[in-house]
Formats: sequence, C-alpha cells, structure tokens
Amino acid sequence: MTSLWQATRPQLPADPFTPGATYDSVVVGAGLTGISTALLLARSGQRVAVLEARRAGDVTTGNTTGKISLLQGTQLSSIIRHHDAETARHYVTGNLEGQSWLLRFFREHGIPFDTRDAVAYSVTDAGAAALKTEREACVAAGLSPVLQDTSSLPFAVTGSLRLPGQAQFHPLRGLAGLAADFRSHGGHLSEGVRVQGISTGKLKGDKIKVKTPRGAVWAEHLILATGTPILDRGGHFSVLTPQRSYAVAFAVESLAFEGMDEMFLSIDGPTRSLRTAVVDGQTYLIAGGNGHPVGRETHTQALVDDLVRWTQQHFPSVRPVYQWSAQDYEPASALPYVGKLPLSRHNIYAATGYNKWGMTNAVAAALALSAEILGGQMPWANKLYATRVARQDAFSTVKTNAGAGLELLNGWLSGLARTSTVSPPEGQGVVVRNGARPEGVCVVDGVTHRISAVCPHLGGVLGWNDAEKSWDCPLHGSRFSAEGTLLEGPATRDLTQGS
Ligand SMILES: Cc1cc2nc3c(=O)[nH]c(=O)nc-3n(C[C@H](O)[C@H](O)[C@H](O)COP(=O)(O)OP(=O)(O)OC[C@H]3O[C@@H](n4cnc5c(N)ncnc54)[C@H](O)[C@@H]3O)c2cc1C
Repeated sequence: MTSLWQATRPQLPADPFTPGATYDSVVVGAGLTGISTALLLARSGQRVAVLEARRAGDVTTGNTTGKISLLQGTQLSSIIRHHDAETARHYVTGNLEGQSWLLRFFREHGIPFDTRDAVAYSVTDAGAAALKTEREACVAAGLSPVLQDTSSLPFAVTGSLRLPGQAQFHPLRGLAGLAADFRSHGGHLSEGVRVQGISTGKLKGDKIKVKTPRGAVWAEHLILATGTPILDRGGHFSVLTPQRSYAVAFAVESLAFEGMDEMFLSIDGPTRSLRTAVVDGQTYLIAGGNGHPVGRETHTQALVDDLVRWTQQHFPSVRPVYQWSAQDYEPASALPYVGKLPLSRHNIYAATGYNKWGMTNAVAAALALSAEILGGQMPWANKLYATRVARQDAFSTVKTNAGAGLELLNGWLSGLARTSTVSPPEGQGVVVRNGARPEGVCVVDGVTHRISAVCPHLGGVLGWNDAEKSWDCPLHGSRFSAEGTLLEGPATRDLTQGS
C-alpha cells in the first residue's frame, strides 16, 4: 500500500551516520515531531542529529491525511470531560501556536498549502447533539465555529460545524522543506539508523549513550519522537491505544469538484474524513476512516474496500488510485504526553498521544520541547503537558492495561491451540503452535514465510493484517513485515525466524 504522498514524495537528502560523534541533542525519529523539534534546536545554535530507522516521513507523517486544523472532531469536548475548560483553552493555544508556526514557515519558504474551512458533520440525531456539545466546548476553549443544519456534501446531514481559515497540505513536501532548513542550520539527518537502547552511566561527562546497530553516538539531550516512545522508560505504552485507519485517494475530474472547498470529518461512526488535493496537476479526493485498534482485525482489506464503496456511492465518478493505512496513538487522558520523562535523572524527552491530530500537536510539542531544552518559557505548555504518565487518570490506565492483558492471554491461548501444517492461501497468515511457541506462517507472492509470532516488545502474540501483509501486535501496536522486519511501534528489534 502506498500513500498519495509517498508516491509523489520529493527528494529528501540525508547525511552519513557518524558513530562516536557527540551532539547537544539527538532526536530519534524523522516524522513531523522529530524534524520540527530538531529544526528549532538547530536554529538556536545546537549541534543536533536526527536518527531515523527508515526514511524521513515513512511512518505516520507520510501516511496522514494532512489537515492542519483546530476543529478536531470531538476532541475539545473530550478534553473538557476528562479535565476542564481551562485545559481545553491551553490545548487550543498550543495547537494554534503549532498551526501558526507551521504555516508561517511554509509561507516564508514557498511551500504550498491550501486554506480551507474545516467542517465536522453529523448524519444522526445523536451526532447532531454531539456537534452542539463540541460547539460549546469550542466556545469555552476560545474558538467560534458556526453550527449549521446543512452542508455542501452530496448526502443528507443532520448538522454541521464549520471553522473557517484552517489548512491542508502535502505532508511529505512540507516535511522536506523543514528537513532542508534543519540541514541548512548544520543539522544531521541520518536514515536507516534504528536506535535500540541507551545507557546513562558516568561516561563522557554524564552524557547519554545512544546505541544503534551501526555504533553509538552521545548526547546531552535525547528526544524520542518515535510515534509511540521506544525504550519504555516513560511507561507510555500503558496509557496509549494504537489506532490504525485507512485512506484512499481517488482521481477525479476537477470540474465535478469545484464545489468541494472544505475539509470534512464525520462525527458519527464509522469515521469518514474527506479532503481534496491537487498534486502535479491531478485532482484527488481523499477519503479516510474505518479505524480500529492495531492488530485486532485480520481482514483489513475489507475495511479498505468498504471505504472505496462508500466514497463511490456518494461521488460516483471517482476512481481509486492510491490506498494506504497508518496508525496514531490515542491517549488515556485525552491529552498528548509531551516533556521530560518522569523518574529519570537524565534529559530524555518524549512526545506522543496526538490522537490523529499531529499536524498541529507535533509542532506544538516541538515548540514546547525546544523551549524546555533551551531554558525558555511556554506558559500554555507547562499547564497543558502537566498530565504526565505518572499522574494518569487511574481508571483509564487500568482499562488500557486490562485490554492489553486480555489480548495477551487470548493471543497465547489461541496461538497455541492451532497445529496446522498446511500453509494458508496466498495473501493470508495464521498463527500456529510450534513446540511451546506460537509461530506465524504467511504466504505472500507465492513465498511461505515462518517467523516467531511473539512480539519482541512485551510478548504479545501477533495477528495477520491482510491489506498490508504484515504481522501486527494487538498489545502496543508494533508491526512487522511478512519476513519479520520491524516496521513501526515501540519494539526495537525484528522478529526471529521460525523453523
Ligand atoms: C490515517 C491517519 C490520518 C491522519 N490525519 C491527520 C490529519 O489530517 N491531521 C492531523 O493533524 N493529524 C493527522 N493524523 C495524525 C498525524 O499524522 C500524526 O500524529 C503525526 O504524523 C505523528 O508524527 P510523529 O512525527 O510523531 O510520528 P511519525 O511520523 O510516525 O514519526 C516517527 C518516526 O520515528 C521513527 N522511529 C521509530 N522508532 C525508531 C527507532 N527505534 N530508531 C529510529 N527511528 C525510529 C519512525 O521510523 C518514524 O519515521 C493522522 C493519523 C493517521 C493514522
């Protein structure tokens, strides 16, 4: 599966990795969080390296839908439900800072983006009520979206909520602009370098040793911008639910789409996200949705097919060209977790839990982290990110952990129950017993692969994902290719090969 953005990705030059080098800051991960944090630090004169396991933008940032919006579904009512209106105001301030910073950067560097109204819409009475509640939450948090009975969509709605002046962009073209500016300020971006661990002894003036299979580097500050934080030192995995969802870009004849000048998001389930994009002269309609917790659906291709069917039912002339999928992390507390890891004497920071609103939240996190590292002041951030993992809402944390615990048990029980020696059909995978261990067997392009089906992160039993031909962990969202190569998530190692 390839996203529209990956298929049209610009050149993103990288630098050689230098084992033994010492930096003021090492940023792990070259998505929007990592690159924007690294850029802010490099601009202030720090020596900064970004270490990226794959290529910059290969994971969620290159597979997003790219709306840079403060109207975020029911996000603000959820924050008020978990916290209060003041916290929602800090959230809006942070997101507005992130949005303004990013759009100013694009203007200054000639990177295109489109200004669009964001519209949330409902198709049920319950959805219309949720829109009203969200409008009240927006007002309490300092935004003034307009509640309406209609929308410009080609189907009936029960209500809509419109916030003018939001934006959409090509996320990899945006990321390339940020990365180029980072490198022009002396920053090093190294790709194909996976961080597998750190040590924090008294060596090298108490610096952090950052270990990779290609050697180690040293840092005063370490920023884990890895989607969900690796290394488990902050315990974030226990308060995040990894959520995977799908997107399809349809080629359209632009004339039919002259009316569609807004970015839409449904309030009712299943989620439907719509926007247009013009890339290299071709107009696309992008539809997203059908999300679920990672690793808990096998027949994911059916979810993609459903998205195609729904879109073509409402926009009959569109033709699917690109299909893709990605995941983001839903926080138990309804707020992102950003800041220095609790209980660590060292300068280790993380940013995660954007709940599919990372285009503004990643940049807000970058502004907050760089201010904290450089000794600056960011009053909204101090308040917004005070909800660290150690102070979680106890019930939500127990719920998230209990879900993972149940998946762990079920995975092992069902993995050990099956003893088939027959290979699954083309494109499918099954977990069977091999001695006392679950083994994953799949067939892709006529080749049978056998791997250990136990996630090297915390021992979850992997499930097959038939749309992406991958092994996905239902516990904390690590994902592996059919051959067992690590793709994303909190794990830091590939799967071991089966017999
Ligand atoms: C389907 C979908 C649609 C979305 N649409 C929107 C939208 O319209 N608007 C919006 O605001 N948000 C949206 N989001 C959310 C947004 O895309 C994400 O929140 C954001 O991209 C996260 O950026 P990131 O830099 O934190 O993570 P990523 O982009 O995932 O970057 C993390 C990087 O870290 C690297 N990494 C991981 N482990 C290691 C390691 N051990 N060593 C080295 N590198 C490592 C990875 O390879 C990866 O490149 C969407 C999310 C999804 C899933």
